[in-house]
Amino acid sequence: MAARKAKIHTGGCLCGAIRFEADGPAAKPHTCSCKMCQRHTGALTTAWVEFPRDAVRWTGAGGVPATWRSSDFSSRAFCPNCGSSLGAIDDAPTIALLIGTFDKAGAAELKPTAHSFKGGRPRWWHVQVDG
Ligand SMILES: [Zn+2]
Ligand SMILES: [Zn+2]
Repeated sequence: MAARKAKIHTGGCLCGAIRFEADGPAAKPHTCSCKMCQRHTGALTTAWVEFPRDAVRWTGAGGVPATWRSSDFSSRAFCPNCGSSLGAIDDAPTIALLIGTFDKAGAAELKPTAHSFKGGRPRWWHVQVDG
């Protein structure tokens, strides 16, 4: 039997200048409540999914996103036109994309199964990753 065709995920920023296509399978879908993610997005908790760098193509008129060097191993990516946070481009050949930027954020393959830096969220903010 032929292998199932890998799913292609699409998404982009608020203004549409930055668009991407990412070839499945998506890796390590997880949520994160660390301070860097909070500042990067303004959200109390972010949701992430990873792809090998070669599996992601920037397809919008704006080309590749702008980046800001956020640590020794990674840069945060954003749209220079509308300011939307898009993800993180690691030096290791990995691109982590924010699940909220996907056209179909509810796709089963993108469902988080772990929560990093749980302690960084306010106690009144609840994140369910196991249901
Ligand atoms: Zn934009
Ligand atoms: Zn984080």
